[in-house]
Amino acid sequence: MNRIITAKFGGTSLADASQIKKVAAIIKSNPERRYVIASAPGKRFSDDIKITDMLYTCHKQNEDGKDFSVTLKRISERYADIIHELGIEFDIDSEIKAIEKNIIAGVSSDYPASRGEYINSKIIAKFLGWPFVDASEIIFFTDKGVLDESKTFTKAGERLLALEHAVIPGFYGSLPDGSIKTFSRGGSDVTGSIIARSVNADLYENWTDVSGMLSADPRIVKSPKVIENITYTELRELSYMGASVLHEDAVFPVRKAGIPINIRNTNSPDDNGTMIAASLPKDIKRSAVTGIAGRKGFTSIRVEKSMMNGESGFGARLLYIFSDNGVPFEHCPTGIDTISVVVNSAMFESKREDILRSIKNELNPDYITIEKNLAAIAVVGEGMISTKGTAAKLFKALADAGINIRMIDQGSDELNIIVGVDEGDYEKAIRALYDAMTD
Ligand code: ADP
Ligand code: ASP
Ligand code: MG
Repeated sequence: MNRIITAKFGGTSLADASQIKKVAAIIKSNPERRYVIASAPGKRFSDDIKITDMLYTCHKQNEDGKDFSVTLKRISERYADIIHELGIEFDIDSEIKAIEKNIIAGVSSDYPASRGEYINSKIIAKFLGWPFVDASEIIFFTDKGVLDESKTFTKAGERLLALEHAVIPGFYGSLPDGSIKTFSRGGSDVTGSIIARSVNADLYENWTDVSGMLSADPRIVKSPKVIENITYTELRELSYMGASVLHEDAVFPVRKAGIPINIRNTNSPDDNGTMIAASLPKDIKRSAVTGIAGRKGFTSIRVEKSMMNGESGFGARLLYIFSDNGVPFEHCPTGIDTISVVVNSAMFESKREDILRSIKNELNPDYITIEKNLAAIAVVGEGMISTKGTAAKLFKALADAGINIRMIDQGSDELNIIVGVDEGDYEKAIRALYDAMTD
């Protein structure tokens, strides 16, 4: 049996005609690359605007009663340039008119947002001479808005395996009533993983603008090392904590089937990139720390009550108050008489009064302390469990850099150590940790 590769290309890889030509060359250089998942055109230069962002703007302008024709015209012109330079026949005007009509008719923002990948994939399919398969016909959500895995895997598998090749738009699928629903931002990575799973691919290639998962954010650390091999678990940890190269949910569909993911660079296609699998290849040498990632925008709510440990269900009731208000907790470090609940600041602020009132009424704590503007940083590595002194090294690195640690959380599996620092110290902390912890 021939191998099957599913290849997803991100926004910068498809930002203009010259990038699309590079992508076509990559696709054609290996006949195993049978299914291609395309994003919408992304940024061509640093202050350029992604097509997806412009589509959201059109919807918002219409909602605010403003004219969105100038924004829509800019979108149309970007596609027109691509079509012209690729030398293909494509009726962009009817596509744009359909978007305009639907926005005016009052569709949800998911529909216009999805058109970036829809149009781009049709253009790429035409350029390659391959069939286009609309994601709305093969990716299904339930009426609760969650992916209907079994229906999707079956239908997408049947439809695609009957074709030698196909181009599929990323980022969206359809609800039971046929309307469009998107994944969260960056969701074409998830589509790529779903398609790989549906056709039972041998490999899921994720082509982007860096040569793999780097051991720290390249916008903060200068030329961080490429992680050549990483496990699904470590990757999930890093991407959830902020290593935005791959959507945090993209590991799930392929992980269950053991399909490896290979992150590759469209602008440097000979680089091996990062290989993500269930376990590391035998006899590779690995240091304790695989990578460092983080995010800003957290708030810690510290609840103190003497003898709290003796009060059964205190922690559970505290967490329930947050979940009851639709605010999921991110971390929950505990002391003898304290529990801190670390949550997304924006989510917390919208429910702040309700949450604090419930904590006071239901749990009667001695003190509640709120610390805003926290950044959480994770140092991740499966080797940490077998290496003594990793935590000491971490605390020394931050102390030497004059950074105050405001929260510490270590999972019992010792896969990661998470520290909270002031948002203002975030970049400095990442650099200090990178220098001290990775080799
Ligand atoms: P695409 O458009 O291909 O989906 P993204 O912009 O979503 O690409 O993701 C790639 C970007 O992720 C890189 O250009 C880089 O700036 C950023 N990034 C953040 N953290 C990391 C990391 N640890 N490793 C690699 N890239 C990272
Ligand atoms: N185009 C979408 C976004 O900008 C999805 C993606 O690029 O993965 O979020
Ligand atoms: Mg992305």
